Amino acid sequence: MFSGTIEIDKEKCDGCGECVEICPTQVYELKKGKAVSTNAQECIECCACVEVCPQNAITNSSCGGG
Ligand code: SF4
Ligand code: SF4
Repeated sequence: MFSGTIEIDKEKCDGCGECVEICPTQVYELKKGKAVSTNAQECIECCACVEVCPQNAITNSSCGGG
């Protein structure tokens, strides 16, 4: 079970939705044009979201630093 944390910098996020598309376990959804990690507990630590985000807005404690 995922025990880390996912943070999204709302200043950086432009709502492109790429994290929503790429996450294999549907962790993200868009609310009011910003990504939110509604289902963070489902994260399998693949780090695809961190890599895909064009704005570098996502920090996942299991995916190391930038
Ligand atoms: S990929 Fe990054 S910029 Fe795009 S919606 Fe997700 S967090 Fe926001
Ligand atoms: S690390 Fe992978 S499973 Fe976890 S939120 Fe990102 S894309 Fe989804």
